[in-house]
Amino acid sequence: MPVVKVQPATLRKLNERRVLNCLRVNKTLSRADIQRELNTTMPTVSRIVDTLIAQGWVRETGYGDSAMGRPPVMLEINPTSPVAVGVEVGREAVRVVIVTLVAEVLHRTQWPVVAIDSAESLVTAVAEFIEACNVPLDHVLGVGIGAPGARDPHPELPKRLMDDETHHHWQRDRVEQLVMERLHLPAWIDNDANAAVLGELWFGSQCQQRNIVFVYADAGVGAGIAVDGTVYSGENNSAGEFAHTIVDMSSEEICECGRRGCLGSVAHTTAIRAAVSRVRPDEPVDLGVVVQRAKAGTEPEAAIISRALDFLAVGVINLIQVLDPGVVVLGGTTFLVDSFLVDEMILRLNGLMQPRHVAVIAPAFGHEAVAVGAATLVLRTVYDHTQVIDASP
Ligand SMILES: [Zn+2]
Repeated sequence: MPVVKVQPATLRKLNERRVLNCLRVNKTLSRADIQRELNTTMPTVSRIVDTLIAQGWVRETGYGDSAMGRPPVMLEINPTSPVAVGVEVGREAVRVVIVTLVAEVLHRTQWPVVAIDSAESLVTAVAEFIEACNVPLDHVLGVGIGAPGARDPHPELPKRLMDDETHHHWQRDRVEQLVMERLHLPAWIDNDANAAVLGELWFGSQCQQRNIVFVYADAGVGAGIAVDGTVYSGENNSAGEFAHTIVDMSSEEICECGRRGCLGSVAHTTAIRAAVSRVRPDEPVDLGVVVQRAKAGTEPEAAIISRALDFLAVGVINLIQVLDPGVVVLGGTTFLVDSFLVDEMILRLNGLMQPRHVAVIAPAFGHEAVAVGAATLVLRTVYDHTQVIDASP
């Protein structure tokens, strides 16, 4: 094994991240708790904690319980420390959140996606929102963006932020460049479902869980997959392309990929709307009304919703069978529009599932799962002590 010489500054930053990460996971800890968690010496912990308090990242919250002797001073992440911006560029809406270091949403807004027609207008709108919230830019760590189809990792290839709708042609590189030029902030861009599972992994209600599947069924459908605490993106950066898993070879629907029976040809809100409007061409399609009619057993809505849920259930069961997650999160408008859809989905899953322990839950951040997940792309730079980091001051 080659001996790697670690610079003291690198080691210091690494240890600061370990302490911050320890507080992220455990919420409040004493210095002695941190020393035990990190298996290091008390002088080291005290030195790091003092630095983090002086820098405003950590604060003392009062005294904890003590069986004997002096009660310990408890510590937590300082909620007034720097913030992160998260943006979901969805197929129908753009959502923006500004969150604390522990992913609490301080400010939120959303715009219809038709109001945003270029990289310039996106970055301008985000900049104006940050200003309207009176958040100074030097208090912002960076901007994270989650979007459908933003998986392409190869910088030499043209990257479109959106990969399928004709009216979206934002260059991914251009967005990163504009965020740097206009806001002087770094930007991170990832696929929407990957961002959602990252947010759930780091800040969700089950954040001790390391194996999570986030099913994001919205105007498109995808899955974010976390394996052993890390988002799994696959050899071609296309892991979790859930929409094109084939769940019914005898299906009549031809998917946009040219194959028959893909889950995505039936099971997202775009497909549901299209199926309803084929039968009711003169009515504008309101998803809430569609679900109400399905609940009442009115056709064709009942059959369309039932089929969408059947496809999704088969897809989710296949994911569970292959990946063995501890948690499956049902996120996106398809599930959030009405709890009836989640209940029906769980009935189908229970009917198909082999005995095993897997929790099926709602997303911790509801409709903001992708936006908060996008902010987590920024926040993880504060906590992630598993990667080599820049030692420069
Ligand atoms: Zn397909």
